[in-house]
Amino acid sequence: MSLKGKVALVTGSTSGIGLGIARAFAADGADIMMNGFGDPVAIESLRAGLAAEFGVRVLHDGADVSKAAPIAAMVARTEAELDRLDILVNNAGIQHVAPIADFPPDRWDAIIAINLSSAFHATQRAIRGMKSRKWGRIINIASAHGLVGSAEKSAYVAAKHGILGLTKVTALELANDGITCNAICPGWVLTPLVQKQLDARAEREGRTVAEVTHTFLTDKQPMAAFSTPEGIGALALFLCSDAAATMTGSPYSIDGGWTAQ
Ligand code: NAD
Repeated sequence: MSLKGKVALVTGSTSGIGLGIARAFAADGADIMMNGFGDPVAIESLRAGLAAEFGVRVLHDGADVSKAAPIAAMVARTEAELDRLDILVNNAGIQHVAPIADFPPDRWDAIIAINLSSAFHATQRAIRGMKSRKWGRIINIASAHGLVGSAEKSAYVAAKHGILGLTKVTALELANDGITCNAICPGWVLTPLVQKQLDARAEREGRTVAEVTHTFLTDKQPMAAFSTPEGIGALALFLCSDAAATMTGSPYSIDGGWTAQ
């Protein structure tokens, strides 16, 4: 287990991709600080389940990552209660779909805060300990929308392009501190974030979700298949391995060919 003795903080890990990454890290021996919203009973069951299944320490912190202060407190709590912070995954994210002319300014602000600024605040806090130990891994969950645009997703596409810029600068500044920073750019993954978009399209077109799913996928991806939280977890795990020690500052696509076009 290559991550035994390491501690990982994964933002937005109560659901979807973040949970897939937290599971992959826990299975490889890492202690985990989970983060994210949800029903407290369900979150406690996830936390206790991961700890029991893999024999690692797992805590949950409900920090709202749209704000700097709770992020700083969550990083400090990780270092205090799990002793260190070696791996930071900036994953928490939200979506809102509307043309620019109608895009609610409060949704723009929330998406930039949660999908982009949170990664800056968490990175700023986490790298202090990583530098002192001369080892760290920072993984930013971007998107195919970090590389290409789609109509009606101005805030999301801006935030995801922004996080690729932050990834590059973080990598450059920490290049000789034993710390790497990379981004993962998924295509479609069937999580609550995407399910909402499928449901909205089915309702708009008067069709079933099953009927719209194939078109939804192939509108963007040559491959008519969802990527999975497990696949993204495995890629994140590889980026933490010794084999990936010199991989830094790059986006890694897992997108069914979306951005090959
Ligand atoms: P999801 O809705 O399943 O999970 C989002 C997580 O973020 C949840 O745990 C939620 O509680 C948490 N979260 C939301 N707002 C938060 C806040 N203010 N503070 C703390 N936690 C908060 O979504 P997902 O699809 O797993 O998305 C995870 C990441 O992957 C996002 O950054 C998303 O943009 C990115 N992504 C998703 C897809 C996809 O197809 N699902 C594709 C590319 C990129």
